[in-house]
Amino acid sequence: MHEFDGLKEECGLFGIWGHPEASELTYMAMHSLQHRGQQGAGMVSSSGEYLFGARGMGLLTEALSKDQLDSLKPFPHAIGHTRYASSGGSELSNVQPFLFKSHTGDLGLAHNGNLVNAMNLRRALEDQGSIFQTTSDSEVFAHLLRREKGAGEEGLEKRKNRIKKTLKQLKGAFAFMIMHEDSLTVALDDHGVRPLMLGKKDGSHCVASETCAFTAIGADYIRDIEAGELITITDDGIDFDYYTDQTYPNMCSMEYIYFARADSEFRNISTYRIRKELGRALAEEMDVEADIVIGVPDSSLAAAKGFSEAIGIPQEQGLLKNRYVGRTFTEPGQEARERAVRMKLSPVRDIIEGKRLIVIDDSIVRGTTSRFIVKALKQAGAAEVHMGVSSPPLKNPCYYGIDVSTHAEIIASRKSRDEIRDEIGADSLTYLSVDRMHDVYHQFGSKGQCDACFTGNYPIDIEEAILPQEKDLKQKGV
Ligand code: SF4
Repeated sequence: MHEFDGLKEECGLFGIWGHPEASELTYMAMHSLQHRGQQGAGMVSSSGEYLFGARGMGLLTEALSKDQLDSLKPFPHAIGHTRYASSGGSELSNVQPFLFKSHTGDLGLAHNGNLVNAMNLRRALEDQGSIFQTTSDSEVFAHLLRREKGAGEEGLEKRKNRIKKTLKQLKGAFAFMIMHEDSLTVALDDHGVRPLMLGKKDGSHCVASETCAFTAIGADYIRDIEAGELITITDDGIDFDYYTDQTYPNMCSMEYIYFARADSEFRNISTYRIRKELGRALAEEMDVEADIVIGVPDSSLAAAKGFSEAIGIPQEQGLLKNRYVGRTFTEPGQEARERAVRMKLSPVRDIIEGKRLIVIDDSIVRGTTSRFIVKALKQAGAAEVHMGVSSPPLKNPCYYGIDVSTHAEIIASRKSRDEIRDEIGADSLTYLSVDRMHDVYHQFGSKGQCDACFTGNYPIDIEEAILPQEKDLKQKGV
């Protein structure tokens, strides 16, 4: 899948407590999480007495100036956030971490995920007098925490209990970093939908959405943070707890398939290995004769490798990706998307001319990329183009922090496999089955996977999050 045609992850998180270079390390780590959000970035640092923040729009290099970074350098505790807006608009006020000031102390907040009951909670809070500064679902947490009985009372234990009570009011997917002057608390929702990892750098604890952030700063990856877990880091050490004892692990399947970087690890297994295995599984279900296998760069190359090894025909680099196409080509709209894909992907004629190709892509969302790829490969002389998708047909919107929010945007929710094959112009189209996908995840020690965008079985009730136009379609049985 190409990023202009597909799904976009909402955010990347990184935080570190008690390191003399906390801000520089956070900035470096955020670079490796840039793929999780490119619309804005920010940092909040703690001096131990007060919190200080900086944020801006665009890629990290555009969002934070040298002066802003220098202003945060003296402080030993920092959190950072890269943002793609799937909830709330893309204006500066929604860029995180949020920094709230009050006479009882400062609060820094960064969130990855989406709260399905945010709309209702927000309305109730507004009716009780709250005034929101942003349109982000994440701000709801800060208002609820502030209203929790005993807000401002001294003591980490009391604060932890208030955070626990607040988290219990939330429904949906969340990985939170909650910074006070003297503590960094991280929490993962009871389904553990979004990834959150614990690491250590020079004796200081750090957390990140993906382990590639630890690699970037030379930190050790300790372990994955569990569903329902609540971890508090202070100058005195680290406290492990749960905000709830009722947990239902349902990690996002698309993290393995597409979102995470290939070098990031889950339960000590690289995304690369998992993707390769998904490719091998697809090979068992795809019965096509061909000369070469081509992966759509970059996220599908590992699956193509696994597929090629399984069927014993060579994998070639038949498509090249132009890494230097700027964001000028990321405007919404079908025509702009097609132009973006054409600028980004280019067939290698010498490799594909006269060949029967199997093209492996990790997923199809709108179909724009697939249609372009098939057309470009045939124009470059391919004899046949067979499309293999290393995930099941993506049919449903995600309400847990990914940007596809209506069925109308998703080709497989409107068309059958044969119709999609005809629309993209391929000679055949094969998807990985849901069962084989889960087989692969179990093989790698999964405790449970969300597969709602493939099956429609939403592990967290979504009724409160469904857009009015989607409800209309549902009532009409569309
Ligand atoms: S619906 Fe799909 S994209 Fe969303 S969390 Fe579940 S598996 Fe991930």
